[in-house]
Amino acid sequence: MDTNFTSSYNYNMNKKIIKFPSPMLKKKAKVVKRLTPEIVRLIDEMIKIMLAAPGIGLAAPQIGVLLRVIVADTGEGRWAIINPKLTEKHGAQTFVEGCLSLPGIEAPVDRASQVIVSGMDRRGEKIKIEAKGLLATVFQHEIDHLDGKVFIDRVKDPSLIKYVAFEREKREELI
Ligand code: ZN
Repeated sequence: MDTNFTSSYNYNMNKKIIKFPSPMLKKKAKVVKRLTPEIVRLIDEMIKIMLAAPGIGLAAPQIGVLLRVIVADTGEGRWAIINPKLTEKHGAQTFVEGCLSLPGIEAPVDRASQVIVSGMDRRGEKIKIEAKGLLATVFQHEIDHLDGKVFIDRVKDPSLIKYVAFEREKREELI
């Protein structure tokens, strides 16, 4: 599918995002054993790329780094989580999802509506985040990336997968 980027800045940033069906997106990311300046730099880079895309979430494997690091910003705060783990899941909800690694594709995905994600922040502090609604979906989508899963793997009926133009008003919902 052809993608027309309007700004060269966005184009350069998007080049860094690994696109489906790259085998990289099927791999399981490794646990971060130690917080180093490289990890902090990785987080900064991921946030920059996510915001430029624009997207509301990004997982390290999407830029070719097989480490368990995710970032998210749904407009209600910015999160960077190292070794995120879904420790609780409740309820159900369905959002039409997109993904920066699958430009032009969207589909409804059923996920838990409330989650607790634990992990470590960029200062090495243990964190536990309660999320619901869109943020809960974003966290589950990004943690899936760490396990080598993309959102279309969770779509039960392939006829629900829609091929849409990349440039559209819903672009900010790409994760
Ligand atoms: Zn994604």
